[in-house]
Amino acid sequence: MSKVRTRFAPSPTGRMHVGNLRTALYAYLIAKHEGGDFILRIEDTDQERYVEGALDIIYRTLQKTGLVHDEGPDKDGGVGPYVQSERNATGVYLKYAKQLIEQGDAYYCFCDKERLESLRSRVSEDGTQIVVYDKHCLHLSREEIEANLAAGKPYVIRINMPAEGTTTFHDDIYGDITVPNEELDDMILIKSDGYPTYNFANVIDDHLMGITHVVRGNEYLSSAPKYNRIYEAFGWDVPVYVHCPLITDENHKKLSKRCGHSSYEDLLDQGFVSEAIVNYVALLGWCPEGNQEIFSLEELVKAFDYHHMSKSPAVFDVQKLKWMNGEYLKAMDFDTFYEMAEPYIRDVVTKGQDLKKIAALVKTRIEIFPDIREQIDFFEELPEYDLSLYCHKKMKVTEEKALDVLKETLPLLEAQEDYSNDALYETLKSYVDEKGFKVGYVMWPLRTALSGRQNTPGGATEIMEVLGKEESLRRIRQGIVRLEER
Ligand code: GLU
Repeated sequence: MSKVRTRFAPSPTGRMHVGNLRTALYAYLIAKHEGGDFILRIEDTDQERYVEGALDIIYRTLQKTGLVHDEGPDKDGGVGPYVQSERNATGVYLKYAKQLIEQGDAYYCFCDKERLESLRSRVSEDGTQIVVYDKHCLHLSREEIEANLAAGKPYVIRINMPAEGTTTFHDDIYGDITVPNEELDDMILIKSDGYPTYNFANVIDDHLMGITHVVRGNEYLSSAPKYNRIYEAFGWDVPVYVHCPLITDENHKKLSKRCGHSSYEDLLDQGFVSEAIVNYVALLGWCPEGNQEIFSLEELVKAFDYHHMSKSPAVFDVQKLKWMNGEYLKAMDFDTFYEMAEPYIRDVVTKGQDLKKIAALVKTRIEIFPDIREQIDFFEELPEYDLSLYCHKKMKVTEEKALDVLKETLPLLEAQEDYSNDALYETLKSYVDEKGFKVGYVMWPLRTALSGRQNTPGGATEIMEVLGKEESLRRIRQGIVRLEER
């Protein structure tokens, strides 16, 4: 078998949709699983949809996710150009379109807008109106065509689809699909602006670039029979098709911008880490064999067998992604975590607290970085809290008992010089042992006074280490006053 070659062929139209990222990832994995090549091709023939800066986004995303391409516009050598507008400038698409005209498989069409509008149209699967072209220009004489061309009349080039019979096409995920040829309209290959349509360019490029496996979203599935007719007309081998299932939101609607987390960049902005996004996206339409869910990119390369891809829609479950992100944060080395967490921490605490200590406390307790805020805001300002927070049924702590504990430990903590977690713990532990209490019986009221919260990252002594002596004592004294005034 020849070397596997896949391509990712994004159009520069903005942020990288999760579906596109998955296409890129699967194309990469299919190639790398077989030791093949992964190619980047920029499909910019639809000049109206071009968005400034979108190219940078594509390069940045591939780089950040580790989906390193072997060939592409920014690499030397290969079978370029890899940008379709540059390919168009070489005249390659027109050359092949003309070959089809010679063969009788395509023809010039000079019909104007008014005439096209008067034609019958049908509604495609995705709801768009498709004009069914009536092959009017197929019947023009050679002289008429020459005259029109000589007069500079605008034209498109259309494929000449058979009107009868059926076309069958094979997709490795979806199986055989057969469509009646009458449904395949005489689609445009070259537009009136001289650019090829996606429909034509993708076939020419995939062939010339030696692509063996075409991986893309299943929105292209219904057009694939038309592409096969082009391959057939040229006598070229049809590549293996791997169409990926739809990705939906929790309401089973196509994942769209509206849900707010439909692009890779949205997810980064929301505090997800790239590795977790890639890992999660891999599972949107592919099921690993065992129970393992956490995969590094290298592990994915080993495990990814595209035959285990699914054809049913995959639901993008943000909660699951959050869980997975939390697992990545737990496993991350501390310095990397700190670098990423610091801006979020700095946003909340401003009084010279030790940010690294705070980061260490939250590292295993958050799912995404923005969770940090609600976990640590008490380090900045003691929140208002209800005195009932002091009560702990199981540990038999009442407001009264809590007051006793605070009053008795206060002098110990006032005398304490070393406010490190270990030293503080040792001091309080001797008090606990001496009194024959349970550790929690003492720590609970202290932690309440120090944080005003039911849940905190870290216990009383860890919190004191961050707050420092002065602030810790101030909060405990304040707790005592409030409990006394009750
Ligand atoms: N340019 C197309 C897109 O961005 C690519 C489709 C394909 O991979 O063939 O959707």
